[in-house]
Amino acid sequence: MGKGLFPDCYFHSIYDITPEFLKGKGIRGVILDIDNTLVFYGVYRPTARNTAWLNGLTQAGLAVAFVSNGRQQRVEEYNRDFGFYFSFRSGKPKKAGFLKAAQAMNLAPCQIAVVGDQIYTDILGGNRVGMFTCLVQPIKPEPWLRFRLKRALERPVVRRLKHTKEETP
Ligand SMILES: [Mg+2]
Repeated sequence: MGKGLFPDCYFHSIYDITPEFLKGKGIRGVILDIDNTLVFYGVYRPTARNTAWLNGLTQAGLAVAFVSNGRQQRVEEYNRDFGFYFSFRSGKPKKAGFLKAAQAMNLAPCQIAVVGDQIYTDILGGNRVGMFTCLVQPIKPEPWLRFRLKRALERPVVRRLKHTKEETP
């Protein structure tokens, strides 16, 4: 049986994930979700803190890609100054978006970390293709009904998770 709905690691936020942690796991590329992982819905541009964190990844030699279920314009606008590989309306947890990103980064799935806030899209999809999956807590609770249902479905899994502590040498 695969990892299914369970992430390999669980952090409060992206800022708790360091290049050193990822590289220690043999990771060479990172596939990121945008909405409620990097910024909240409707925030079209990266924050200064987003940019610093993303630059930290690339400066450490990690490849970065965005795989989003959001619209083309949303993803393009967010990515404008970075120019990373991206896909939109990716249909996560479908495998195709993750596999195409892996191909674009020229990496094997086991060398890639998927970072996202949703278990049934980001984590399930990343696990299905054999990537290292990192769940982060959503930036803010979504006010929409469909999300309340999604989050309720996630709760039995999240309850069993413990936050990952970075191993200090
Ligand atoms: Mg998300």
